[in-house]
Amino acid sequence: MIDNGLSADRARYWRSLDNSRIQCILCAHACIIQNETRGHCNARQNRSGKMILPFYAWISSIAIDPIEKKPLKRFMPGTSTFSVGFWNCTMDCPFCQNWEIAHPPPAYIQKQIIEPDRLIELALASGCPSISFTYSEPLLHIEYVIEAMQIAHSRGLKTILVTNGNALDEPARHILTHTDAANVDLKTADPLIYRKLLGGEIKVIKNFIKVAFELCHIEVTSLAVPGVLDSIAQIEEISSFIASLSTEIPLHITRYHPAWKYTKPPLSPDTIHEMAESARNYLKNVYSYW
Ligand code: SF4
Repeated sequence: MIDNGLSADRARYWRSLDNSRIQCILCAHACIIQNETRGHCNARQNRSGKMILPFYAWISSIAIDPIEKKPLKRFMPGTSTFSVGFWNCTMDCPFCQNWEIAHPPPAYIQKQIIEPDRLIELALASGCPSISFTYSEPLLHIEYVIEAMQIAHSRGLKTILVTNGNALDEPARHILTHTDAANVDLKTADPLIYRKLLGGEIKVIKNFIKVAFELCHIEVTSLAVPGVLDSIAQIEEISSFIASLSTEIPLHITRYHPAWKYTKPPLSPDTIHEMAESARNYLKNVYSYW
């Protein structure tokens, strides 16, 4: 019977500190969490000096999508993928395109619990050849996702991770070992914007991309946002980094739409086109969307 993640045995990636405090070592925030409080993401909690997972198996959304919507262009093209979302996020991008589930006001959160084995039964019943962990941030629910990925593989399903890449090396290697294909965001080339505006560390994200390249099929998405990623110089820096791993890695340049706390108008299609052309000086597979 499911315990809704409240069992302290279920959570990994944390360590004990003094005075009943704990430290989460899943993402770059490395939150020190006081007793009976939660980390920055609101999804990992200290109960009496041990970590519990208050949103374990809470599913926010399920849909069947074309795999190209993840986006993945060079992994099982032309197929559909059973797509699953959770609640909350490790980062704070003020333009979040999925803010209703990534940064939900408490009244938005609905308690729909689906255990990993039942989730995989639903995926199999859909007829899709793969399952995608997507929409909000799946890394935050790494214990659940790894469990579901293991069951998926035992039942012949491929596994897909769509993520912000904000996980430290050990959890990154654990989850990517069970992942067949990943799409990872690289949101800007500017370390300060990553840290101060988005709540991430570019070194951690780049390491995640490197580990993904070692362990599974990888594609990268860069969302073109005014004031965050809006210049040829930035897209060249991003493309150059990806090319240092392989010029074959696909890069998707997508166009932001005003959402959540961000109201700046989107970049013009011409600007997106110019950014894509610049990226093609480094990479063989560049896709742009507007
Ligand atoms: S996942 Fe990240 S944000 Fe959440 S508690 Fe752990 S270190 Fe903090």
